[in-house]
Amino acid sequence: MARQFTEKRLVIASHNPGKIREIGELLSPRSIEVVSAAELNLPEPEETGDSFVANAKLKADAAAFGANLPALADDSGLAVSALGGDPGIYSARWGGPAKDFAAAMARVNAEIAASAAPEDRRARFVCALALTWPDGHCEIFEGDVWGDLVWPPRGGKGFGYDPMFVADGDTGTFGEIDPAAKHAKSHRAVAFDKLIAACFSPAGRA
Ligand code: IMP
Repeated sequence: MARQFTEKRLVIASHNPGKIREIGELLSPRSIEVVSAAELNLPEPEETGDSFVANAKLKADAAAFGANLPALADDSGLAVSALGGDPGIYSARWGGPAKDFAAAMARVNAEIAASAAPEDRRARFVCALALTWPDGHCEIFEGDVWGDLVWPPRGGKGFGYDPMFVADGDTGTFGEIDPAAKHAKSHRAVAFDKLIAACFSPAGRA
C-alpha cells in the first residue's frame, strides 16, 4: 500500500508557472498548503534522467531534501508518434532558453513533415508524478492522453504545446478548451487521480 500523505504542507517541485498553476488547481479541493520550489528559492536540479519517471523523482527528491518537507514533482512532455516519441523528455528543452513554445511547436510540425510518416499526426502527452518525503520515501504515478496534432496552433489557454494538441474525443485544442475540461482528461489529471486514490485517504481532506 502506498504511504498516506497526512502532512499539512506540500512543496510543488517546479519553477514552471503553467505547471504550478495546474497542480495548484488540481490540489485545490484538498486542505493542503502548497508552496512552490520557486517561492522557496530552491535551485532547479539538472534533469539528467533518461525517463519521465527518473526526472520526476530527481526533482521531487531535491525539493524534499532542500525544504525538509514532502515534495511533489511532475515531469511531463509530448511524445510524437512520427518522431519516435520526440521531443519526449526533451519537451521543455525544445523551447530553448527563452522557453519559446511557438518555435518548439513549429519545430514539431516541421519535423513531422520531414519524417518518414508525415501523415501521422498522432501524439500523446505523458506525465510522471513523484511524491517524496524528507526521509527519502517516494511514490510514483503515471498518466497519459492521446490526441492529434493540428497546424496552425489554436487558442491562448494552457501552456507549452497545448495549442497544437486536440485530445481524442475533443474538437478544440488544449489551448482552446476551458481549464476544467483539460483537467478532466489530461495526462496530469490521470496521474493525479492515481496519486489521490493511493495517498490521500478519502476521509478528512475533501
Ligand atoms: P518538464 O517536465 O519541466 O521537463 O517540462 C515539460 C515540458 O513539456 C513543458 O515545458 C511543456 O513544454 C511540455 N508540457 C508538459 N505538460 C504539458 C501540458 O499539459 N501542456 C502543454 N505542454 C506540456
